[in-house]
Amino acid sequence: MTIQTRISSGLPVSERTKAFLAGDHKLIVGAGNLSAQGDAKIEVYDPASGGVIASVPAGGKAEVDTAVAAARAALEGPWSKLRPSERERLLLKLADAVEADGPLLAEVETANNGQSIGIAHALEVGASAEHLRYMAGWATKCYGQTLDVSIPIPPGTRYRAMTRKEPVGVVGAIVPWNFPLLMAVWKIAPALAAGCTVVLKPAEETPLTALRLGQLIRDTGFPEGVVNVVTGYGHEAGAALASHPGIDKLAFTGSTEVGKLIGRAAIDNMTRFSLELGGKSPMVMFDDMNPDLIGLAANLGVYFNQGQVCTCGSRVLVQKGIFDKVAQTFVAVANGLKIGSGFDPANQINPLVSAKQQSRVLSMVERGAADGAMIVAGGAAPDGPGFFVKPTVIIGAKPSNVLVREEIFGPVVTLLPFTDMADAIAQANDSVYGLSASVWSRDIERCFIFADAVKAGTVWINTHNVVDPNMPFGGYKQSGIGREHGAVAIENYLETKAICLAL
Ligand code: NAP
Ligand code: MG
Repeated sequence: MTIQTRISSGLPVSERTKAFLAGDHKLIVGAGNLSAQGDAKIEVYDPASGGVIASVPAGGKAEVDTAVAAARAALEGPWSKLRPSERERLLLKLADAVEADGPLLAEVETANNGQSIGIAHALEVGASAEHLRYMAGWATKCYGQTLDVSIPIPPGTRYRAMTRKEPVGVVGAIVPWNFPLLMAVWKIAPALAAGCTVVLKPAEETPLTALRLGQLIRDTGFPEGVVNVVTGYGHEAGAALASHPGIDKLAFTGSTEVGKLIGRAAIDNMTRFSLELGGKSPMVMFDDMNPDLIGLAANLGVYFNQGQVCTCGSRVLVQKGIFDKVAQTFVAVANGLKIGSGFDPANQINPLVSAKQQSRVLSMVERGAADGAMIVAGGAAPDGPGFFVKPTVIIGAKPSNVLVREEIFGPVVTLLPFTDMADAIAQANDSVYGLSASVWSRDIERCFIFADAVKAGTVWINTHNVVDPNMPFGGYKQSGIGREHGAVAIENYLETKAICLAL
């Protein structure tokens, strides 16, 4: 406790944020705040210094059981009695509450995840509020159809059928640490718009803004138990949620490896599930691309949030004629980025989320280099404390190299040459993943030929990493099942019932 107070009191944050960090954090379940059985705690770190800033309960099966029961009671009780427009109004109020609490939420996120305070304000807070507002509108726009029926049994009978959309039920949401608040909102907003209730398990590394969001949801006037937050380890709380027979739908974002465990657990109970998983997204640069955009591609497509982005453009395929120019520009960008704490907005590369992630990234770079790839920028941690990795550029990797095949989730890019469109498409699709891709060219026809041929859920043209609540988002192949955002996301949280009337 003394250590926690000392380190969080040294952070460049408001007194309000310090008081929040130092608080006695509890699970948010039903109307109350719950301690975990046995009072087990998870320590939460400041990635820029490595110091402990808070601790949260390590919830497990017992706490998940209580939370699922609270979500079920809310679903069958007051929540289902609300009219769609009342759900809409609550979601709009929550968006305002998130914005009003923005200064605290952003500081807590930077202290906990390490990300830039600018990203925390713009995405964790700003984009979360926009997602809530967008999904609020869907609460009043879920509808079925009337249908004509063709088969007259017994002969001569006529029918009139209709479909009705109903909330799928209690949702188990399991989210990662790269954009902790935003990822939670991506699940909670459509679930609530559709009339579901939620049990949320944030990542063990980044539980704090989820707890704060749970509190804001309560304060906004949502009935108790509509959203419950159980902090805990993946193999305990996460696994208990994934295999819980009281969960009607699982919504997961994270690694493909854990996504497969979630899917397997879900099938045993026939729980519906959607998975937003990893990627190895290609950025494909044709020789007629606007050269002024190469730097933007590196900053926005690769090094944004230290590469801890599921759509990170970690494989850059470059047409041979401009390979040297692209490589030089990437190296210049990488070497020029200012490394430091996310609390100084001038710092462009902030720490990775954890010591584990830092060593995972560095060991992948080491393995890649041992297999013949050349490190032409970065490739190591800078001196000093914190979980930093220097922005890294790799060339000369074989197609089988780990840096070409596996998701790195760090500030590491591999540049690979290609000859023509057919080669670009073949290399882009040579991956088990298919989350996203981008194509860079002044020839729009070329861009669309590539966009049609690439197996990816999102394709950007002359940009990368642009995500919007109105644009469906999700993966082909092992990058997932289902789509988030847009009208299609609401369907994730609805059941379709057919009702047939004999006339
Ligand atoms: P992860 O293991 O997939 O974690 C994502 C979420 O799943 C966390 O809340 C985690 O809990 C939970 N979880 C872990 N094991 C579980 C289980 N057996 N049953 C149910 N839930 C479980 O990701 P990670 O370990 O944090 O990161 C590992 C790698 O995954 C990264 O290096 C990156 O390559 C990839 N990743 C991808 C994304 C993405 O958006 N595509 C996001 C995060 C990570 P804990 O927090 O306790 O582990
Ligand atoms: Mg983990």
